Amino acid sequence: MRIARFVQDSDPAFGVVDGDEGREEIAVIKGDPFFSGVQLTGERHKLEDVRLLAPIIPRSKVVGIGKNYADHAAEMGGEVPPAPLMFLKPNTSVIGPNDPVVLPSFSDEVSYEAELAVVIGRICKDVPLDRVDEVIFGYTCANDLTARDAQRTDNQWARAKGFDTSCPLGPWIETELDTDDLAIRGYLNGQLVQDGNTGDMIWGVKELVSYVSQAFTLLPGDVILTGTPAGVGLISDGERYDVSIEGIGRLSNTARS
Ligand code: MG
Repeated sequence: MRIARFVQDSDPAFGVVDGDEGREEIAVIKGDPFFSGVQLTGERHKLEDVRLLAPIIPRSKVVGIGKNYADHAAEMGGEVPPAPLMFLKPNTSVIGPNDPVVLPSFSDEVSYEAELAVVIGRICKDVPLDRVDEVIFGYTCANDLTARDAQRTDNQWARAKGFDTSCPLGPWIETELDTDDLAIRGYLNGQLVQDGNTGDMIWGVKELVSYVSQAFTLLPGDVILTGTPAGVGLISDGERYDVSIEGIGRLSNTARS
């Protein structure tokens, strides 16, 4: 099931996206599916008649994972870390499909990073590997935008990874997905620049959720970014970046200064 958040002419609402590609519709959900499950109101819209928002604004945090693909660790000139390397992006970094990425004035080197995002469905802590499935709500596409110059000069990555608009999410959350072997691709102005597979993650989704939950209590709507494959590069004013993940869909955002 694909769960989106959208506005039509009223307040933001959640909905279930169905139908064939190019002719999708959205069935409106009553309330918040993270807390009250999926109850439909009976109201439907054509997808093209609504504006999609970030499918979730995390209640508390986006947890990022650095260097989780060996080919990306190599292109950054580093080794794979001995354990997952974590950082945080504030929920104010989250934007939705087609929202502009506003390039921060303190950086001349903003990079795109196509990533699979895990959306947490229930409060949890110290989740054992064999119970991770119980705490996942679903999956969406993410772009972990990073100011490389600030990443080099600052010991902490808060500014480099956490600036406003640095975390596009969308277009919706797919709740049923096997993440073992999914093509993950990134396109700069329509040109393929990242071409990876989730099967090449060093730590898979289960390991990451379990590991992250040893440090942080995870809340419904929290998001874990699972790292980017090779092919990262810079994005500048007016350029568009699309993240496409097999079984989910395509997230597109244009940068502006
Ligand atoms: Mg990343």
